[in-house]
Amino acid sequence: MSKKTVRDIDLKGKKVFVRCDFNVPMDENQNITNNTRIVAALPTIKYLLEQNCKIILASHLGRPKGEFKPEFSLKPVAKELSKLLDKDIIMANDVIGEDATEKAKNLKEGEILLLENVRFHNEETENDPEFSKKLASMAEIFVNDAFGTAHRAHSSTTGIASYLPAVSGFLIEKELKFLGSSVENPERPFVAILGGAKVSDKIGIIDNLLEKVDTLIIGGGMAYTFFKAQGYEVGNSICELDKLELATHLMEKAKEKGVKFLLPIDTKIAKEASEEAESKTVKCTEIPAEWEGFDIGEESIKEFKEEIKNAKTIIWNGPLGLFEVSQFAVGTNEIAKAVAETGATTIIGGGDSISAIKKAGVEDKITHISTGGGASLEFLEGKKLPGIEALMDK
Ligand code: AMP
Repeated sequence: MSKKTVRDIDLKGKKVFVRCDFNVPMDENQNITNNTRIVAALPTIKYLLEQNCKIILASHLGRPKGEFKPEFSLKPVAKELSKLLDKDIIMANDVIGEDATEKAKNLKEGEILLLENVRFHNEETENDPEFSKKLASMAEIFVNDAFGTAHRAHSSTTGIASYLPAVSGFLIEKELKFLGSSVENPERPFVAILGGAKVSDKIGIIDNLLEKVDTLIIGGGMAYTFFKAQGYEVGNSICELDKLELATHLMEKAKEKGVKFLLPIDTKIAKEASEEAESKTVKCTEIPAEWEGFDIGEESIKEFKEEIKNAKTIIWNGPLGLFEVSQFAVGTNEIAKAVAETGATTIIGGGDSISAIKKAGVEDKITHISTGGGASLEFLEGKKLPGIEALMDK
């Protein structure tokens, strides 16, 4: 990694501003329903405690649109963090107000202060220089460990780095190691599996991965656009008519680059997306009118599994069918199991693929589960992430 990390800078006893991604899901009573993102921040926080730092933590939560709203308060995060670290967390009642600045000023070595939701200020998402400066004025060093928001140029992810020495935490370092190095120098065969609803969301990533992979497997709703582009009827299946040319271009590019471009062979179809709906499996090139493709079929699963079995590096993003309805979740679940069973380096991104992996109970067999949905997609598209660009070079 070309950017400095917490290991490359003297942090002993320093006051450190750490941007985390504590954007966790909560139920209507503000109970955290999944603490993965908080747990992912612990290695950096623990390291800073070992260095006797005075630690100021900041994060966003949801989209409060620039004003204080109690349901977007980070107080439940303070409670969870306190439990996980077995340590008191000082909670600020604001972000850059009197309460936060006073508490930051009085912070002692080994103490942790959590600021309120940075998005209680519109200046955060506007990357306002004055706001960035105020955040920076609380500390001596900036640590960015919020991989999930690294693709956003906001005050607490990017702006603040103009005013303080800026380094990454361990989570960002780990994400870049897997998403970066493993993808740039993969052990081959390198197979990418892309699913999800729309081609339009994945154009960048398909385009970029065609430069790198040996095999590209396409499943999910976006597969039908590729069939339509080849002149087949797809019934009522999801299809982006304005992306047919682009789909053709991507298939041609795969041919030029010598990439094996695998579309599903068969598909499970129904007339509606429900558990009770009558369904059957047909060839993807023979979808009758009024029927809709909701999952990949058994022949496709078999073919995809063969590719997965022989791979040495696998990236997977996006479900291979409408997996929220269990009769259409078979393809996604089978692929999840197959990916977990390989000896390959396996990298999974995107909330839906991660849910599928968890549902199959095979999380611990995956080499790297990315915490950043949008950020990991943009990184795999080959884009520069502003939250990482802003850090000091090694
Ligand atoms: P994305 O956010 O683009 O990764 O898309 C995820 C969504 O695509 C999930 O909610 C899936 O249920 C949906 N999806 C995947 N395959 C299909 C399909 N064949 N028809 C309709 N929706 C699908």
